Amino acid sequence: MGFKVVKFGGSSLADANQFRKVANIIKSDEKRKFVVPSAPGKRFSDDIKVTDMLYKCADLAGSGVDFSEPFNIIKERYNGIISELGVNISLDEDFDAIANELKARPSKDFAASRGEFLNGKVLAAYLGYEFVDAADVIIFDTNGVLLLDETVKAVRERVMNLPNAVIPGFYGRTTEGFVKTFSRGGSDVTGSIIANAVRAEIYENWTDVSGFLVTDPRIVENPDVIEVITYRELRELAYMGASVLHEDAIFPVRSAGIPINIRNTNRPEDAGTMIVSDDHDFKGESVAHTITGIAGRKGFSTINIEKAMMNSETGFGMKVLKALYENGLSFEHMPSGIDTMSITLDSAKLEPVRDKVLAQIRKEVNPDHLEIEDGIALLAVVGRRMKNTRGTVARIFAAMAHARINVKMIDQGSSELNVIIGVSEHDLNEAIRRIYDMFINSEK
Ligand code: ADP
Ligand code: ASP
Ligand code: MG
Repeated sequence: MGFKVVKFGGSSLADANQFRKVANIIKSDEKRKFVVPSAPGKRFSDDIKVTDMLYKCADLAGSGVDFSEPFNIIKERYNGIISELGVNISLDEDFDAIANELKARPSKDFAASRGEFLNGKVLAAYLGYEFVDAADVIIFDTNGVLLLDETVKAVRERVMNLPNAVIPGFYGRTTEGFVKTFSRGGSDVTGSIIANAVRAEIYENWTDVSGFLVTDPRIVENPDVIEVITYRELRELAYMGASVLHEDAIFPVRSAGIPINIRNTNRPEDAGTMIVSDDHDFKGESVAHTITGIAGRKGFSTINIEKAMMNSETGFGMKVLKALYENGLSFEHMPSGIDTMSITLDSAKLEPVRDKVLAQIRKEVNPDHLEIEDGIALLAVVGRRMKNTRGTVARIFAAMAHARINVKMIDQGSSELNVIIGVSEHDLNEAIRRIYDMFINSEK
């Protein structure tokens, strides 16, 4: 029999009632053997995640300040869940050990990791599953880079022979023995690694939406769910800010050919989104729309350079890129005309070296005109079917023209999987809504 790795996000485990839903989901399919929980998340929109409170404790501890106020709120959250569920477990010793460790060595990573650690203990006790500390199986090198081979070996040795197990998400340990976390949202990565290690038939990622939506539900009301998406499409969307799944959660399962299924803990009857490696995995299925998804991100700047006869000047582009390179900058896009070149890059990274870069470009290529424009947003329209469909870019332009949104930049990737457009930050949400209308609503 194959089995499934199931990861539950913070909102799926935010209170006792959510724990009940999670247990029902797990118990309704005996293949759901390996469970990866997050820390308790938000119960309502202005609630605070346990992880955020733990970071707060670490901050306070780091400045030698008493952190008992946020720490008590954390204790109450776990104790509330335990008593409401009637689980036979006490975390009192763990709470004391954590408080003592924070006083002695206020490590941010250690503090944050305890959210998942404690939640894993509660969930394991509630399910009657074995608790496996992620620090025993998820291994990083001394620079904090995941050691995949060592990790896979450790996971196999520790969990393969267990009938079932709860392995907390988000953290592991370095080869020197220090607790280390992934970046925020990293429980997704743990789930993916465990799925790879145990060769799961599927990695189910349970959250609070019924799958990967065509676009951000905070921008378009009630967007359609994407039934099937490829890893490549997902990467493009995730990079541009569609934050349902941590970017690094893709590689471990992709390399092992394991599909991811995004599911809704609050609506387990919904099929959710299947993330698969390529087209032939879902041939024959009726495909709804030209595009798969839309995502956008703010915080970009463009360096605009103009010089007569730029195109015939050998090494022009190289000199400009050298100025970026020597200031440690990478760029996102670089569309160019005969006498113009425009480079889009991350504003936050540009900021500290802004004047230096301008001075160097001026010196190297002596442009007629040079300026930086801030406040740019990039928007990605992604879809594996665009390649075989004509007129996609024309339709995007038509949608923008109708809304009187000025398109500052456009770039179509050579794989024809995505079209990137640059707009003013204040036009971003409207641009997303117009493209959604053009490709999703009007294709219905
Ligand atoms: P979890 O705590 O389960 O890991 P996250 O908060 O990390 O959940 O991710 C789910 C959230 O991602 C959704 O509640 C939704 O607000 C947001 N989101 C942003 N873009 C999208 C999208 N394209 N599709 C679905 N959800 C999206
Ligand atoms: N609890 C961690 C966070 O809030 C990790 C996760 O939820 O995936 O970022
Ligand atoms: Mg998440």
